Amino acid sequence: MKRNVSVLGDRKFDVVVIGAGIHGATIALEAVKAGFSVALLEKGDFGHSTSANSLKIIHGGIRYLQHGDLKRMRESILSRRSMMQFAPHLVKPLACLMPTYGHGLKGREMMRLAFGIYDLVAWDKNVGLSTENRLSLGKSIDLGEVKWAVPGVAEKGLTGGAVWYDALAENTERLVLEYIKEAVRYGAVAVNYTEVVDIETDNGKVTAVVAEDLLENGDKTRISCDKVINAAGPWLATLMGDSSDLGAQKWATAINIVVKKQLFKKYAVGLEGYTSFVDKDALIKRGKRLFFFVPWRHKYTMVGTTYSAYQGKADEFALSREELQKFLDDINKVYPDGDLSLDDISFYHAGLLPMDEAGNSEEDSVQLDKSSKIIEHKASDQLEGVYSIKGVKYTTAPVIALDMVKILCKNDTQDSRSCGSYVTRPPLNVDLGPLIQKLGDEYPRIKLYLEKAYGTDWRSVVKYLVKGIDSPLEAPLWLSVEPPMLEAELEYFIHDEMAVSLSDVIFRRSNIGAAEEPDATVLRKIAGVMARELDWSEKDILAQMSRVKQKFALL
Ligand SMILES: Cc1cc2nc3c(=O)[nH]c(=O)nc-3n(C[C@H](O)[C@H](O)[C@H](O)COP(=O)(O)OP(=O)(O)OC[C@H]3O[C@@H](n4cnc5c(N)ncnc54)[C@H](O)[C@@H]3O)c2cc1C
Repeated sequence: MKRNVSVLGDRKFDVVVIGAGIHGATIALEAVKAGFSVALLEKGDFGHSTSANSLKIIHGGIRYLQHGDLKRMRESILSRRSMMQFAPHLVKPLACLMPTYGHGLKGREMMRLAFGIYDLVAWDKNVGLSTENRLSLGKSIDLGEVKWAVPGVAEKGLTGGAVWYDALAENTERLVLEYIKEAVRYGAVAVNYTEVVDIETDNGKVTAVVAEDLLENGDKTRISCDKVINAAGPWLATLMGDSSDLGAQKWATAINIVVKKQLFKKYAVGLEGYTSFVDKDALIKRGKRLFFFVPWRHKYTMVGTTYSAYQGKADEFALSREELQKFLDDINKVYPDGDLSLDDISFYHAGLLPMDEAGNSEEDSVQLDKSSKIIEHKASDQLEGVYSIKGVKYTTAPVIALDMVKILCKNDTQDSRSCGSYVTRPPLNVDLGPLIQKLGDEYPRIKLYLEKAYGTDWRSVVKYLVKGIDSPLEAPLWLSVEPPMLEAELEYFIHDEMAVSLSDVIFRRSNIGAAEEPDATVLRKIAGVMARELDWSEKDILAQMSRVKQKFALL
């Protein structure tokens, strides 16, 4: 996958997708698979915004049982399955536990009933999944196991625990990239650091978009197209102007933290908050918001998610230390044994999500929009060929993408399309013998590591390993040992995955900066290789390093 802005102006596209978060990425893939020619344009790096900030749980929708919302449950079940099929190396089963209290709504009996119903609705949740990715049925566990799994759990009225199985996208950033790479194999053109600044119309019908190449001093390209899908996340209203209802949309801040403590080992644990939370749509109101503690990369715990109303513009969004402290105080109330302080926070996720204003009257009751929505601007703004995606959940993006493409197909007037043909990954035409001989026992370990990170793409990274071994300069094998990163991976990110900045590599292509601030020596080493490949000066290196460090300035 190479960055090539010049091809955008040379031809007409059926569909231009604005924004390469999880919604833009999945829509680009489904549209190109359906035979549309597609350009996917992203003003930052692929998946850099809300989609990089999720708690990474791919929900199967059990919570919607509370709302009696079968449709949302089925959407979540099918989407989760679709993600687990698409990237089995990145989306893995997650065992979740919630302590049960008394014998009423929060009791074991009620949870057992809920699991019974859920398992019926989710009868096909494992169809097509590999054995190690199949999700077991929900169950209840006894008091002893809950006390072992959640040391210090509030014991008054505790009757046991409810266990269910969801999924965790171990790397949401790479998952977005996987969808984009697959779309490109089908013939889509995807470009990062390219901002759509205008949508052109003729007689109320879209004819083109104008995009600025942010890496080339804002060079502008006019891209002809029939349809525009605005999947710009918190920037949804920016291009649509005042005429659109989107301008009135309110947004909520959502925050997770990552702490350098492994609070719970076996399960992700859901614990109830203390302040009242009125879920206005729930048939069965539990009255408190859940805090979720997710074991993360062996030595960390991710905790989320807290919401508050946001007043500013998307471009001005920034988190404060006070907001982190407030969230931390809430977590300490919910789980005092965690005894967390600001020093324990090694990373955080923060983003903006569409808020449902009508549900925000009570304390701690910021309510998000119920489900993701496709807006046809022909109906709302007399603008033909333009659609907006208001995405509330990472999980349901594949189902929304299919719905979007169904609408495209229904409204399509063209008789025939010149569908691109799928370009399979080129075979690895290299002799692995010398590499295997040179690496010895390390080879199987590296192979396993690469398979886990890149799935079937692992061979594309091996190509650079072989090159490194052949190189007269004898490149070092590992740039970082923990978290691991091979020099070959870095070359792959730059040459095959459009990484153009140190932040792209640290936060989205590799695992180096996903949980805590990278070691300065490692950062310098990585920046040094990038300088060699991308012709950076010493000044560039320092600027790139400082941008990475900026992300941790609050901590
Ligand atoms: C803290 C937090 C926790 C969450 N936890 C979960 C969870 O556990 N499970 C779950 O399912 N969901 C979760 N979510 C929700 C989920 O992350 C979002 O719903 C989803 O990522 C939104 O994706 P998107 O593609 O709509 O938006 P984004 O990811 O924001 O993508 C929009 C993209 O459009 C680009 N863009 C904007 N304007 C332009 C332009 N003019 N030209 C080109 N590009 C443009 C932006 O740069 C951006 O990359 C969480 C969210 C947050 C913030």
